[in-house]
Amino acid sequence: MKPRVRKITLLGEPVLRKRSASLRAITPREQRLIDDMLVTMKKARGVGIAAPQIGVGQRLFIVAPGPSVRYPHAPFLPPLAMINPRLLTHSSAVENDWEGCLSIPGIRARVPRWRSIEIEFTARNGRKIRARLKGFVARIFQHEFDHINGKVYLDRVRDTRTFMVEREYRLKLRGKKKSAR
Ligand SMILES: [Zn+2]
Repeated sequence: MKPRVRKITLLGEPVLRKRSASLRAITPREQRLIDDMLVTMKKARGVGIAAPQIGVGQRLFIVAPGPSVRYPHAPFLPPLAMINPRLLTHSSAVENDWEGCLSIPGIRARVPRWRSIEIEFTARNGRKIRARLKGFVARIFQHEFDHINGKVYLDRVRDTRTFMVEREYRLKLRGKKKSAR
């Protein structure tokens, strides 16, 4: 069956505020869910998407950093589905940088995140993978990890004066060489 673009849930829908359940197995049903998430994310030009964002309360998300209009300096990595992910350790260092969310369209803000993290997850082929992530990729992981725990980045914003309407953000970005800060 061809993957299909799903409706993205928006802030206010209860599924975004619930702790998602662990996956027991990776059956064709889960594989199809992952494929649907991939095409949905691509269409929305996201760099990540979590299952609750298409209305499914399961501990599964995709991390897919790549340069885009929102993140022109992002490194490119092929999209990676992470099943039952765990955050094992993190640096003491924190970095403040811009984030937005497909479920909260139109605004962005600076969010503090651990600079580097050690994680573990099951890949879609069933293999367990342990990895160390840093910078933007670690940021995406932490953002998506929040989603499967019923949190959104707004909960993490320390300085609410950094909130910006997306159009303003893009204008600012265009006028600068590195990421707007
Ligand atoms: Zn999000």
